[in-house]
Amino acid sequence: LIELNQVQKKWDGGSSNAGVPVLSNINLSIYAGEFLAILGPSGSGKSTLLRIIAGLTPASSGKITYLGLEYQGVNPGAAMVFQSFALFPWLTILENVLVGLDSKDLPANVKKEKALAVIDMVGLDGFENAYPKELSGGMQQRVGLGRALVSDPDVLLMDEPFSALDVLTAENLRRDILELWRENKIPTKSIIMVTHGIEEAVYMADRILVVSGSPAGIHTDMPITLPHWRDKNAP
Ligand code: ATP
Ligand code: MG
Repeated sequence: LIELNQVQKKWDGGSSNAGVPVLSNINLSIYAGEFLAILGPSGSGKSTLLRIIAGLTPASSGKITYLGLEYQGVNPGAAMVFQSFALFPWLTILENVLVGLDSKDLPANVKKEKALAVIDMVGLDGFENAYPKELSGGMQQRVGLGRALVSDPDVLLMDEPFSALDVLTAENLRRDILELWRENKIPTKSIIMVTHGIEEAVYMADRILVVSGSPAGIHTDMPITLPHWRDKNAP
């Protein structure tokens, strides 16, 4: 579904780490039907890798394709859930979810219908006119999830989606996401999740990618296949 070939990332400009590769020689295939977890120490480039896949950050070199095609800018098949929710505080829940459809050419009433259906699906029925600050962290992350899912992305990218939540809230959201995913309630073909939690990765994912950080930015990708890996649908 997504292929990364010899992808490298160096930060340029005036930052202290300019010129040092944060990611190098990343070769990775994301298969349709899989839930991939990415584990690795702080600063090893996990968020950077996810942002490169999403097309939010350009790679310095290498090739990335979605459905066999290289893309310029944002990956048309991917949507992202952020660690810190990244909601717009001045927009209502409905308006925040609608942001996920900004790039889609659909009539306003169709967009609104889709957004309301997704708000219901993530468990926020009745909150469409509330503002983010009126919601708990768990509910805010459900908005983040809704904004990502509203465009029916082939690939859902999640960057430490539970790390800002308390234990119980996180567990509830984990279960709800797994239910949507495993019971095919969303058309999403693959999920990539960055996490610090080995247990969380084993619990949720089919395959684990370990990104090993070092000052020289050397990485090995050794996907570990877990028993519940299954082919959800062909590529
Ligand atoms: P964490 O587990 O703490 O979230 P991470 O694995 O997600 O870490 P990244 O956020 O991808 O790590 O950062 C990798 C490296 O790139 C770090 O050294 C970071 O300081 C640097 N970095 C990240 N974003 C930028 C940027 N916009 N400009 C310059 N350097 C950056
Ligand atoms: Mg990160």
